[in-house]
Amino acid sequence: MWSTLWRQSLELISAARCCACGDACAPKSSDGLCERCLNELALPEGGVQGDQPLLWCALAPYRGQLRMLLLRQRPTPDAALIAALAARLHGCCASAVAGALLLPVPSWKRAGNPLPLLLARALVAASAGQAQLAPQLLQRSRPTLGQHHLGRSLRARNLQGAFTAQACAQQPARPLWLVDDILTTGATACSAAEALQAAGHPVQGLLALARTPAAAPR
Ligand SMILES: [Zn+2]
Repeated sequence: MWSTLWRQSLELISAARCCACGDACAPKSSDGLCERCLNELALPEGGVQGDQPLLWCALAPYRGQLRMLLLRQRPTPDAALIAALAARLHGCCASAVAGALLLPVPSWKRAGNPLPLLLARALVAASAGQAQLAPQLLQRSRPTLGQHHLGRSLRARNLQGAFTAQACAQQPARPLWLVDDILTTGATACSAAEALQAAGHPVQGLLALARTPAAAPR
């Protein structure tokens, strides 16, 4: 009995922790982040949106504390934190995502970035089943070079024909959103969207945690 009580009290303590800083005492917002982290992350209400080079919605520009936080997440993602950020992102795009398919942008490496899939899963959970995960619709058709050191035009050339999309079997086709952790130039997303559109999927745009500001270091 004591072990059960002990486990339950441990669960209570851990449930009350901020999922970004782990602070147990700090006051929580509804999405699991403490006030201090929310202030430090400087996430604007309603997120940030744009339509270049495709329609996109993100939590905030990729800089400062949010950038540091996401850099730490790539090698060792924390599902609770991704869920908290996804819930917040869902709040910025709930009506767009309702009834849609969500497709995480596939990694170019075999052991690639785990965040797009984690984020897409968490967005589906945040939508309470209104959105559906559809990672099977898109594959990398060939390995491409890492995009990090390529300029804009080389990035686009590197990605030509990089994706193969499954033909759309549903009529009417469901709207589809690509999901990635960070939107940089959008070259990868545009290449993925092109392949999907050609296969009959109405791609709406991209949902991301952060958007690289034009002149900021990546
Ligand atoms: Zn915190």
